[in-house]
Amino acid sequence: MNAPDRGLNAPLYLADTHEVINVSRELVDTNLYLQDTALQEAVKREGAAHAHDSLSAFGALAGSAEYLEHGVLANRHAPELDTHDRFGHRVDLVKFHPSYHVLMKTSIEHGLHSSPWTAPGEGAHVARAARFYLHTQVDAGHGCPITMTFAAVPSLRTTPALAALWEPRITARVYDPRNVPDAQKAGLTIGMAMTEKQGGSDVRANTTRAYPVGAEGPGQAYELVGHKFFVSAPMCDAFLVLAQTAGGLSCFLLPRWRPDGSKNPLQVLRLKRKMGNVSNASSETELRGALAWMVGEEGRGVRTIIEMVAMTRFDCMIGSSAGQRAAVAQALHHCALRSAFGKRLSQQPLMQNVLADLVLEHEGSLALTMRMARAIDHRSDPHEDALVRLVTAVGKYWICKRTPNHAYEAMECMGGSGVMEDSPFPRLFRESPVNAIWEGSGNVQCLDVLRAMQKTPAVVQVFFAELAKARGANAALDRWVAALQGEFKDLSDIEYRARDVVDRMALAIQAALLVQHAPAAVADGFCASRLGAGAGGGHCNYGTLPRGVDCGGIIERAAPMR
Ligand SMILES: Cc1cc2nc3c(=O)[nH]c(=O)nc-3n(C[C@H](O)[C@H](O)[C@H](O)COP(=O)(O)OP(=O)(O)OC[C@H]3O[C@@H](n4cnc5c(N)ncnc54)[C@H](O)[C@@H]3O)c2cc1C
Repeated sequence: MNAPDRGLNAPLYLADTHEVINVSRELVDTNLYLQDTALQEAVKREGAAHAHDSLSAFGALAGSAEYLEHGVLANRHAPELDTHDRFGHRVDLVKFHPSYHVLMKTSIEHGLHSSPWTAPGEGAHVARAARFYLHTQVDAGHGCPITMTFAAVPSLRTTPALAALWEPRITARVYDPRNVPDAQKAGLTIGMAMTEKQGGSDVRANTTRAYPVGAEGPGQAYELVGHKFFVSAPMCDAFLVLAQTAGGLSCFLLPRWRPDGSKNPLQVLRLKRKMGNVSNASSETELRGALAWMVGEEGRGVRTIIEMVAMTRFDCMIGSSAGQRAAVAQALHHCALRSAFGKRLSQQPLMQNVLADLVLEHEGSLALTMRMARAIDHRSDPHEDALVRLVTAVGKYWICKRTPNHAYEAMECMGGSGVMEDSPFPRLFRESPVNAIWEGSGNVQCLDVLRAMQKTPAVVQVFFAELAKARGANAALDRWVAALQGEFKDLSDIEYRARDVVDRMALAIQAALLVQHAPAAVADGFCASRLGAGAGGGHCNYGTLPRGVDCGGIIERAAPMR
């Protein structure tokens, strides 16, 4: 440090007060793919080795300082709504920061909204999941319309005439954010409007009504009157909407503009003021006779839109795994550079325990997410299809629910600076509960697990057959699985116990995957801390790994390259 100049002519306000030392630096200009060993292994293992080079190029883009700044700006400048133009015409126009449009354009041009539909095949969902995971680390909010556009395709395909008209433009790699009729666009985005004021989980309580314009039934035109209390990404070109007909709750495709070029009266009342997920606009709307076409069978709206919901839930697993990776990479980076009490934080035994534990959480999340991507790629195989039906709900519940505490704990690794708005953590933390709540909150996921078991009891055998692949490799896991089997013997109060049971299922399948595929340090550490003698299916605070875990090895594998 320079000594302050005390010369007679040197004014004190120019004195050097201190040198800035022992601080971290921005984690930028890294390759988000190549620095993530667990991701690279999962991509290869689950069938998308062919995507290595393109993911590598994408990881370089996503990790560059210039590109990461788009995520910052898209969240610093929240979208704004103009309901009318200055002349008084209704426009329902949401204006976004240019960086939001950059993120949307990149996602769409790289097929994050469509690649498994346009180029299905071995590893298609796995490669797309990896790309979505990398891009979510730049910004999670814009992922909402990307996910919904991606997820709408299976629902739309239930009505081939509508799919023929819409799917080519939904899956096209063209981003066109103009507020103009879809007929003028080569690429479209799709949203979803189910939730009403009186009920979100229980959509059967929807009061929005659909009146046939002429003929009734799938593919026919209706006019919708009612409201939707949550409509994210209201600038999408069309929405899958639930509304009541004489035959019951049905699904509709509702464009923002009518075919005659007039505005379809899906009116945006206001934008939600959200604690996180800022780059994404979410709105409250009213439908005043909005034109829409029935998708799927009349009265089977939930059945139809559940195809979409299944995919959005899977994307929640990807998104929260990505949030965990972003958080732990920041924590590892900081602690490798910062010293306290004479040693790097990353070399302090107690901090090593915390960091390694955060890494283990992410390893389990990613392994399960990418395994499910492979299952989605192979749904014609009954075993894989059963896994999708059961384990998507397990994973959505568990991974999303584990993320807020993970984000907070990673923030604490940075000390006070982690709390500051110019650090990455406020955004990661505020984003962290969102995936757990939308697309079916925690209890709803657990009830869905029970529903899948009741509807198709064979899924339970499939689940245990999947766990059996790891039998004999870890004694704690074997004991855990045996105890879990006991949970299904008496189903009398299973609804009350559902969270506990699903917690145990999630840990079992994560452990089984890590035992088979991860290095011994990771698998052993995960089992010892989550399934060991002291673990009751919970694993309390991070940093409570038992003796004997190879924290150094776990940390080294996950360290982001600088
Ligand atoms: C940022 C954001 C964006 C959103 N965007 C959209 C969108 O674009 N489109 C859309 O349709 N929706 C959207 N939603 C709404 C979201 O999907 C709902 O908020 C969610 O499904 C829960 O519904 P709810 O808010 O009505 O809560 P409720 O249904 O009232 O649930 C409240 C709580 O009760 C629990 N619960 C419900 N039923 C049971 C039961 N039987 N047993 C035990 N517990 C139960 C739930 O798990 C939850 O924890 C969005 C939400 C958020 C936060």
